[in-house]
Order: sequence, then structure tokens, then C-alpha cells
Amino acid sequence: MKIVFGPVSSRRFGLSLGVDLSPALKQCNFDCVYCELSPAKSIQAQNSVVSVEEILHEINVNLNKGLEFDVLTLTANGEPSLYPHLKELITSLKKLLNNKKILILSNGTAVLHRDKFEALLELDIVKFSLDSVISKTFYRIDRALKSIDLNLMIEKMAEFSRIFKGELVMEILVVAGLNDNEKEFKALDEALEKISPLRVDLSTIDRPPSYPVKAVSEQKLNELATFIKSVPVLIAQRNFSEKKIRLSKEELLKMLHLRPQSQMDIELKFDDETLKNFNELLAQGCIKILKLAGVKFYKVDKNY
Ligand code: SF4
Repeated sequence: MKIVFGPVSSRRFGLSLGVDLSPALKQCNFDCVYCELSPAKSIQAQNSVVSVEEILHEINVNLNKGLEFDVLTLTANGEPSLYPHLKELITSLKKLLNNKKILILSNGTAVLHRDKFEALLELDIVKFSLDSVISKTFYRIDRALKSIDLNLMIEKMAEFSRIFKGELVMEILVVAGLNDNEKEFKALDEALEKISPLRVDLSTIDRPPSYPVKAVSEQKLNELATFIKSVPVLIAQRNFSEKKIRLSKEELLKMLHLRPQSQMDIELKFDDETLKNFNELLAQGCIKILKLAGVKFYKVDKNY
């Protein structure tokens, strides 16, 4: 039973040391159609629980090896916030890792429980998933326990965001035929405006899913991203096509005015000529750099 894994390099959060809070089996209050773990009945609480001592011991063993990493990521085979000793664990981790960031990858339900809500406030980075804000689609994609109230969860995410001193990131995973349309994304944009995270990561299925569902194309992700106007979007697709785009300086400024572009977009999508134009605009001060939860975004400077 391996609790600690990595470090693995992630473009989204940097070099990450992972901690699995459900190492023996999948324990989740969702059973998402796209989950890379096998289907499993959704549950309210963990039945198989590792002790805080066991987790800290394994982390210490890895720290003593002198591993380099930027962020410690709390994750699970399932939903990490179902871990019953989350608050105690986070308190101990903060003492142990005083100069490292701590991140949790949650499906968002943590905000529905006061103790978990408060525990997450102590973290440096929190990532919540939100695949749909339309009830029918949400339950079809995430197959959540029926007791989970989607509207309340969105309200609580917004409340969390107002109080949280760290970096809040949201993630939307797009499934073909389910949430890949304008209606879904306009509704998501409204909810994101209320939640006001630093950025939203947009992705699709890239590993074998637990149910027979399909990914959308990179083009579709780009198209859907245009409906998100309230926050910067990071298209977190791993296998970008080789096709590069060419843009004049004027076109680049228009693009960056409409939507900030991430470092990943720039490296993967722009051809050499566009990169040259981009670097010149950057040197002239027309483009501003924003660092949002470890990812650089570029937008047109408001004074330009
Ligand atoms: S929330 Fe995560 S672990 Fe749980 S079913 Fe969905 S994808 Fe799988």
C-alpha cells in the first residue's frame, strides 16, 4: 500500500509529491463516467482509513531521501476530502513542510462539510472540479450521491473563495455529448463569475474511462473556452496537435485582449513568427504577465 508517489512534473502545479489518502481502494462520493479508476458505488465516508501517523511516516521517509518538489498534493483513489482526519493531517503537514506549498485536488464536495471547508482554508492551493452546473448533466457525468446539493455546493464554493487566502483553481472536464455545448458553458461561466477562482483548467478524457464515454477534440475545447469570459482558462490537454498558428502583432493583441493565454498555449500553439511577435510585444510592455496558481498567463496591459 503505497501512500506517497512521485515527484511528478505537472505543467499545472509544478513538481509535485503526491499523497494518496485512500491507497487501498477507490472511495468516492462520485462515480464519474470519465474516472480512470474502475466504477464503484458512491459512498458518504471512508471505510478503509490510513492513520495520520502512517501518512506522516511515509512522507518523512521520502523527505529524508532529499527529494526535490514544489508542492505536496493531497489526492486519493477517490475524493481526498473524505479522509476523516483531514484537519489533523493538514496541521501536521504545515509544521513538517514549512516552506512547501500544499495542494488538494477535490471534486468540490469538501465545501459542503464545515470541518472540511475549514481544513481546506489552511491550504496554499485548492482545486475543485465542476463539470456542470445544470443538475441533470451534473448527475449524469459525476454520478454523485443524490444527497449532494449542486446549487448549495456552488454557493459554498463562492463563500470559500471569498475567505480563502490561498490560490483557488477550478477544473471542468468535458465529455462528448454531455457538457460540450454552449448552454452548459454559458451556465458554467455564470457560476465561475460568482466563485471567482484564479483560473479554470479545461480538459477532456485522456485515459481509459470507467464508462463508455468519449473525449472531445482539441478544437472543441478551444471553442468551449471562448464561452468562459469571467476567468482565465488553461486548456490542460496533454496531446496537443502539432499544428501551430501564425498571428500578426495586431491579431495577437486582439487574442490576448479577448482571453489571456497560458504559457502552455504559447509554447504549444504559436509558430516561430508568432513567438517573435509575442516576445517583441512583451519587451515593449504591451503584454502583462499574471501568475495564477503556478501557471503564467499573458494578457494585454490595461494601460496599453
Ligand atoms: S471524483 Fe475523481 S475519483 Fe471520484 S469518481 Fe470522479 S474522477 Fe473518480
